[in-house]
Amino acid sequence: MKRIGILTSGGDAPGMNAAIRAVTRTALANGIEVCGIRYGYAGLVAGDIFQMTSETVADKISRGGTFLYSARFPEFKEEEVQLKGIEQLKKHGIDALVVIGGDGSYHGALKLTRHGYNAIGLPGSIDNDIPYTDYTIGFDTACNTAMEAIDKIRDTATSHQRVFVVNVMGRDCGDIAMHVGVATGADAIVIPEEPYDIKEIAENLKQGFANGKKHGIVVLAEGVMDAEKFKDELLKYGDFDARANVLGHMQRGGSPTMRDRVVASEMGAYAVKLLLEGKGGLAVGMENNKLTHHDILDLFDAKHHGNYALYSLNKDLAK
Ligand code: ADP
Repeated sequence: MKRIGILTSGGDAPGMNAAIRAVTRTALANGIEVCGIRYGYAGLVAGDIFQMTSETVADKISRGGTFLYSARFPEFKEEEVQLKGIEQLKKHGIDALVVIGGDGSYHGALKLTRHGYNAIGLPGSIDNDIPYTDYTIGFDTACNTAMEAIDKIRDTATSHQRVFVVNVMGRDCGDIAMHVGVATGADAIVIPEEPYDIKEIAENLKQGFANGKKHGIVVLAEGVMDAEKFKDELLKYGDFDARANVLGHMQRGGSPTMRDRVVASEMGAYAVKLLLEGKGGLAVGMENNKLTHHDILDLFDAKHHGNYALYSLNKDLAK
């Protein structure tokens, strides 16, 4: 193996730059050249590929987003498009790849491995929805961003004795909502993985105000329903003032936290180690604080399991 490529694909996440840096510097330290591929699989097929040096990744570890950019490119599902990507790998002398992204990006990585180009996937997503890893790169930063925003919302909620239904990201996964809900002392957490009763939530909020609480915070995972709709449903059972708030894409940006930078650095270095061992078609994870890897194929049949004890914990703490 003389030269590897690296790309970021799918939804961006803070810490992707730290992962790119770790992959690049680890490869260079092992005498392997590194090519950056811009705009994910779209850039691979278009040949938007450039040689990276240690300087290319300097001053990037603290930056949010991905300096290699990302792109949605559904065309890469087609074999003939994948073969165009392979042509580019051949042209640029790239023997193997690291792909940072989510589930969709892993499909692409598996296809490349099957075409004879070992690819290793790193979990880059704020959603924490990938199986066989306790953390995805970007999750911690997104949680901290949402937590800080909800702290601010709580100030105004208290001043006006209001209920706020705050929609947080996560797609079909409730991990951001669960962690942020506990961290902000939410009155209720609503996630796709657990059943909920809007009437009961409204009753609890009413009881909270009767007990002297000055605000109500409901952290709603985006995969459940629209925040405005949830608020309207809530108001059918409650006589309080309520507002809906969607935090949105602010959760995807910002300087990565210490945890995301460290996890990204460890995973990035581990991915290169796997490639040096001649392995491919693998996804890197962090399980019980240890670096692990699994066949990408196994991930497609598996389900991410969040720490649902947090959901029960919050019910007790909110009383
Ligand atoms: P994520 O990686 O965050 O899950 P997407 O699902 O959008 O995001 O996938 C990112 C990219 O991965 C897609 O735009 C496409 O280029 C590629 N991709 C997704 N699914 C496949 C597939 N079945 N085969 C090959 N490439 C795929």
